[in-house]
Amino acid sequence: MGCETGRTSGVTPTWSQPFSLIQTGSDYTQTQKGQFTLNKKESSGGKTGDVIIKEIKIMPKAKKMEKQETFPGEKLAVIEEYSDGPGTYQEDGDVRSSTMGTTTIDKVRRELIVKKTTPMIIVPDEGMDVIASIGSVARRDARIDIFVVDGTHVHPTFSGVIHISDMSKDYLKNIDMAVRSGDIVKGKLINTKNRLNQTSLKGSEYGVIYGFCSRCGGLLEKKEGKLICPDCGRMERRKTANTYGKEKLV
Ligand SMILES: [Zn+2]
Repeated sequence: MGCETGRTSGVTPTWSQPFSLIQTGSDYTQTQKGQFTLNKKESSGGKTGDVIIKEIKIMPKAKKMEKQETFPGEKLAVIEEYSDGPGTYQEDGDVRSSTMGTTTIDKVRRELIVKKTTPMIIVPDEGMDVIASIGSVARRDARIDIFVVDGTHVHPTFSGVIHISDMSKDYLKNIDMAVRSGDIVKGKLINTKNRLNQTSLKGSEYGVIYGFCSRCGGLLEKKEGKLICPDCGRMERRKTANTYGKEKLV
């Protein structure tokens, strides 16, 4: 009696429990999902010569179990195939992934292992939007501390710089007409060579998104194009972004 696993090519494996089926001649049909159905409910009743009894075990395709991406709780195999190795657990005869990761198989132990995916590392690149706080402001440039890169919070932060010529399309006599230390800006990375992280505030979507009063530290409010401190009434100038006061800091 041959024992055959359902290793049918081009068939999507079904992850049902293995089951057996008595095949009588050609009285079965293979469905597209890799399951078998009997055409006739009864076998040919034991007539000599024309009954081939075969046990067919439907198993998940002997697939590329290696290097599959997984999510927590995902059913990967049945315990008859592989035992639950590190990064997996067993539940009602199924081997499931306990983490986001990638599968490997220990062939000697017949063990399924899921290696946890390491989080993606964000590297600042030219053209990416950043959100940064303004550090020290010199005559020709401002140092910045970038804490959001391409919409993702980064920790530790990246240091960067904004030159006075990249603050605004208009000529600035003094850098503090555009930014002040402690402000939060949204900018675009224009040069990441030598980890300079040179950033530009040119364009209406870039500039200060949160500015603070240089007298009392209050959060400046934008009213009719002017920045006013609600606490002390001081009016200040900045190169603001059109999302001033509204930008989410993720
Ligand atoms: Zn103030």
